[in-house]
This record gives sequence, structure tokens and C-alpha cells, in this order.
Amino acid sequence: MNVITASDSIKYARELSVVIPTYNESENLPILLGKLKEVLNGIDYEIVVVDDDSPDQTWKIAQQLSNENERIRVIRRQDARGLSSAVVTGMASSNGKVISVMDADMQHDETILPDMYRAIAEGRCDICIGSREAPGGGYGDWSKSRRFVSYTAKALAYLALSTPIKDPMSGYFALSREYFDRTIDRVNPSGFKILLEFVTRGDNPRVEEIGYRFRNRIYGETKLNATVAVEYLLALIDLRFGWLIPNRFVKFGMVGVSGSIVNFLGFAIASGLGVSVPLAVFIGVQSAIMWTYFGNNLFTFSPIRYRGMSYLRGLVLYEFASIYGLVIQLSVVTTIITYWPTVNDYLGLKYMAYMVGVAFAALGNYFIHTNYTWNRLGYKLAMPVRS
Ligand code: UDP
Ligand code: MG
Repeated sequence: MNVITASDSIKYARELSVVIPTYNESENLPILLGKLKEVLNGIDYEIVVVDDDSPDQTWKIAQQLSNENERIRVIRRQDARGLSSAVVTGMASSNGKVISVMDADMQHDETILPDMYRAIAEGRCDICIGSREAPGGGYGDWSKSRRFVSYTAKALAYLALSTPIKDPMSGYFALSREYFDRTIDRVNPSGFKILLEFVTRGDNPRVEEIGYRFRNRIYGETKLNATVAVEYLLALIDLRFGWLIPNRFVKFGMVGVSGSIVNFLGFAIASGLGVSVPLAVFIGVQSAIMWTYFGNNLFTFSPIRYRGMSYLRGLVLYEFASIYGLVIQLSVVTTIITYWPTVNDYLGLKYMAYMVGVAFAALGNYFIHTNYTWNRLGYKLAMPVRS
């Protein structure tokens, strides 16, 4: 991987590292770097641009700028994607005693960066957040819908947060090298909101927030989309329950729930068309199998998914694994009814027995899919790893 680890580089030679993740920011980056040069005058800083191989060749522009200015370094990632992991890669390769992150799009006000730097360099806090909620802060002119999304995301963040912070959704922050070193091995570098990871995974960080007004984008466009929203929810679940449930299982469960809807729709449509009940059940189950195979392949097991012709091979394995799930479900329900016949007399209890069967089948299927269906390298049976 194109990463220089801290131990390879000169030991924390700089006072401040500014990590800037970029994706299609070729117009913004040169302007931002010019502004940073002005405001950081007097601080011994370095800039680490981490570009995920932008189609607009931001990395090329960054490399040109880096040839003219020895404070600028560029990491062009061709083997990995994603905002949080880009930030972590940049931080891991950085040299500063204080490490900061900011967007390349000038939405983050660079004039407060020296204050953020000092808050940490002077030992006042472990993490300093550029905050839209602190005095002097604000969101600029956001549309109602964007405000609503941000408000909901913030409310959800409080469910996972152990340290109360006013602007948990901020992408603009700085932390001490020392805090980074003692937290990084617990941080999950997937998703969009890396600040939440640093705040929540660490041991009671001292946090300070400095207000700034969020600016509008002039060039380029936001990379926030529906995928990011789903990733955000997964990251929150992982923050709260990660010690208990692997993230991959949560994804598997989400696909499973959508599968039961497809199952029902398939059954309802087939019955509506007048086919016999057993055939309608079969059509419902098959639709659900095709759907959940597609969903799990693309979402749950995305990094190791079946592509091209092997997609069908995976489907065959998946069908077999589904029979196994069906057998588990039947055995569990029959066992419950055998040992507790009263279940037969109450519809509510029957539903509960059914749901217990579904839960066991889901666990069994999950186990077999991680160890068999999507275990294409043929590892020995092992408990699933987190993704
Ligand atoms: N970014 C990135 N990789 C991604 C998504 C975003 O490097 O997969 C960068 C992007 O170029 C910008 C910053 O991360 O510098 C924040 O993204 P964006 O401005 O699109 O998010 P928003 O501010 O709209 O939440
Ligand atoms: Mg932005």
C-alpha cells in the first residue's frame, strides 16, 4: 500500500500536520493551499493531501503543488477508497505533534486552524473541534432538507456518544499525536464520520470546540449520498454494540429483513395470479433467495463479492445454504412445539415460536455464508471477522 508509516519518517519533525482528503477537488485544492499558507505563517506545518485517485486528477495538481512547496506531500491511493480510511492513512503517515483534518472544499474556515492548533499544542485538550455549534459558529444558508438531515444525524450520534460534544458531525478537527497513538488501533476506518470514532473509542478525551461558520461550496459537489447515510448508521451501531455484534451481521440482518418483505410480496403476487398455495410459497421463497443473494453479495460481502460468471456459482452455494436455514428453522419450531404443546393453542405464541426459528436460521445462515458461501479462499471454519 502507498502508505508511509510514522516510524519510517522523521520522528514528528513538524508542529502541525494538516490532513486533507480529496475526491474531485481540483479547483478547490490550490485555492485552499494558498489560504493555508497565509494563516499558518509562523507555525512549522506540513500538508498531507490524500486523494482517492480522483477522476478529475486532483492528485496530479497536488503533486505539482508539492514540487513547488516542500511542506506539501501527496498520497494517491489507488488501492483503497473512502473518506475515513483516507483520513486515517494521512494521519498515520503524518509528522506533526498536532494532527488536524479539514475538507478541501473551503467549507471549513481555515482562519480558526491556528487557534485549534494552539488549543492542543498548549495542552488544553486532546481533541479540538471546529464547531458550528460553539459561540461564533453557524451552518450558513442550508436548505431546510439539509438541516433536517443534519439534525437527525446529530440526534442519532448522541445515542453512540460517550463524551457530550456539541457538533459531533463536524469533519473539521485536530488531535494530539499522543491521543492519536493511544486510540488509533480501536478506530474503525470505514464510513464518513471519523471524528465520532476518535471521540468515542478513546478514554475520556478532553474536548474543546471552537466556533466557525460553515461556508457554501463554490466548486465541485458534495459526496454525501444515500450510501453514506447507510454507512453512518452502521458506524453508529458498531460504536454502540460493536463489542457484541459484528458489523457484517448487522448488514446481513438488514438484507434479511428486506428479504422477508420480498418473500411476502412474491407469495402475494403469485397467489393473486391464482397459482396453487405450495407454488406461491415456492415463488415467494425463491424471490427472497435471489434478492438476498444479490443484496448480501453487493452489500454484506462487498469486498469479497462474486463477479461475472462466478455470480451464478455463488448463487448455487447460496441456495444450498438456504435449505440448511430452512432445516434449522423447522427443527427449532418443531422442538418448541413438542416440548411446549400449549404454543399450538395461541396464535401469539405460534408467531413467537416462528420468530425464534427465524432468529436461529439467520444465525445458522450467517455462519455458513461467512464460512462457506463467501469463503472463497477456502479457509478453515472460523468465526467471521468484522468488516
Ligand atoms: N472526500 C474524500 N473521499 C470521499 C468523500 C469525500 O476524500 O470518499 C473528501 C472531499 O473531497 C472533501 C471532504 O472529503 O474534501 C468532505 O466531503 P464533502 O465536502 O463532499 O462532504 P460534505 O462537506 O458535503 O459533508
Ligand atoms: Mg464539504
